Amino acid sequence: MSWPAFPCRFLIPALFLSCTTYARAQTQTSPPAPTSSAPSAPTAPSSPPPQPPTHADILRGEYGPYRANNDLLSYHLDIRVDPQKKYISGKNTIRFKMLQDGTRMQLDLHDALKIDKILLGATSLNYERDSGAVFVDFPETLRSGQIYSIDFYYSGNPVETGRFGSITFKKDSSGHPWINTACEEVGASVWWPNKDQWRDEVENMEISVAIPNDLVDVSNGRLVGKTDLGDGYTRWDWQVHYPINNYDVSLNIGTYQHFSDQLGDLSLDFYALPEDLEKAKKQFAQAKGMLEAYEHYFGEYPFAKDGYKLIEVPYSGMEHQSAVTYGNHFANGYLERDWTGVGISLRFDFIIIHESGHEWFGNSVSAADRSDMWIHEGWTTYLESLYVEYRYGHDDAIKYINGYKSKVKNERAIIPQRGVNATPPQDQYFKGILFLNTLRSVVNDDAKWWALLHDFYQHFKYQNIMTEDVVAYFNQHTGMNLTPIFDQYLRHTAIPTLELKFDDAKGTVAYRWKADEPDFTMAVRVGEKEAWQIIRPTTEWKTMPTPLKKDEFAVATDLYYVNISKQ
Ligand SMILES: [Zn+2]
Repeated sequence: MSWPAFPCRFLIPALFLSCTTYARAQTQTSPPAPTSSAPSAPTAPSSPPPQPPTHADILRGEYGPYRANNDLLSYHLDIRVDPQKKYISGKNTIRFKMLQDGTRMQLDLHDALKIDKILLGATSLNYERDSGAVFVDFPETLRSGQIYSIDFYYSGNPVETGRFGSITFKKDSSGHPWINTACEEVGASVWWPNKDQWRDEVENMEISVAIPNDLVDVSNGRLVGKTDLGDGYTRWDWQVHYPINNYDVSLNIGTYQHFSDQLGDLSLDFYALPEDLEKAKKQFAQAKGMLEAYEHYFGEYPFAKDGYKLIEVPYSGMEHQSAVTYGNHFANGYLERDWTGVGISLRFDFIIIHESGHEWFGNSVSAADRSDMWIHEGWTTYLESLYVEYRYGHDDAIKYINGYKSKVKNERAIIPQRGVNATPPQDQYFKGILFLNTLRSVVNDDAKWWALLHDFYQHFKYQNIMTEDVVAYFNQHTGMNLTPIFDQYLRHTAIPTLELKFDDAKGTVAYRWKADEPDFTMAVRVGEKEAWQIIRPTTEWKTMPTPLKKDEFAVATDLYYVNISKQ
């Protein structure tokens, strides 16, 4: 497939891998390989091998002592945005509890932005900047268990960088300002000061955004109100009632038109540009069916007090918490393509279904380190198939899932190095869904599987977890040792191969798994499709009788993502 050579910030995802790779080669301080809320197109070039982490990656990625000594409680981001000057100024009030005595904490702010002052009460604090990190020093020891609040004042012209631009100052087709953020890749500190990591989230947040009177700001949470500041600007105040990760915090500033709906007690608010309002009214109606499907499997929408919002933006989409952003051309599929290529994707709007699925996995259940990002993307890709199963049945879901096989590269493990801001490869989406479908087949009891998924989500909602937490939960609640299976699919490049050796004279087949995990064992359905037989291969050869010849002997490869080798 050929793609026109648009600049990096153009909205066709296929281009971002190469663009960002190029950017990385140019400068030591550029961000790591791209992440994505929605995956890049299948024709994207192979992902480059991971580079050794830079000093900036380590500062950003590790949960160092000046982060671990405190626990975030709340932010109040209070800013003014000047669309003409592409300029932001204001402050973030950061409340935190000290977990141990200390005189220093680490925050983050992109070097392009100026620190005006940092105050503890009336005391101006010293700080040291290093590659995007800001080390704030306190004149007296902050005491463990005590709660403190600092005001971090900043200003400047944020840089547009990375996939989706992180923060962009565009114009809509009528020439009005259209300003949006999508900064998962680069980190939220590209446009506002915060503790820019994944492990620690504030418990709640206020977002106050002053903009010219004729514009609308849609941020996360519940709109508290707006205040005319009397100088041509109006301040929009939003209240987030739940924990929120930094990259979800968003600005959407434009001449938005608003319409609303209700699903039971849940408020649904939709925002589109005036020229797209009618298209949005039609396409955004899919949100209700999406919410019903995910609530069926996992329970109540996680952010009911904040409501569910869907907001038109100039890039494909992002899971901003309670304020999902949408740029999928008001058409089904993904950017108007049959995304998994098996005739199912065009029945629904991929961005509404995928990005909103992140409300459960990504926003409510969050990964505590970027290396565990499959908890966001592998799970949410699996949620797409749950939507298909809920709406169209099991057979279509299996077909949809297997449509992802052509996108898997198996070039490196899904989980990269922890604590260095490393981004997993795109396989976290495609191999992620195929792995979770495999796990369902291993559990081999759908009633148990549905209960397991529901209870797993409920157990970890509003928490930041790691892969080890997922594995421990599944082991405990299935009574099985699934660790080697998780490890094979997530921590190794190759998927397991079922090796089969047929002896027609004896009427037997020998079988074993070829896998990197020495203790790998996984039951699998083999034989004839109408009457599968379950065998339990290990990495040691076993033999069983079979009336089937080599070419008659099948393996349920639509239920298990495995290779087959027949001899
Ligand atoms: Zn996603």
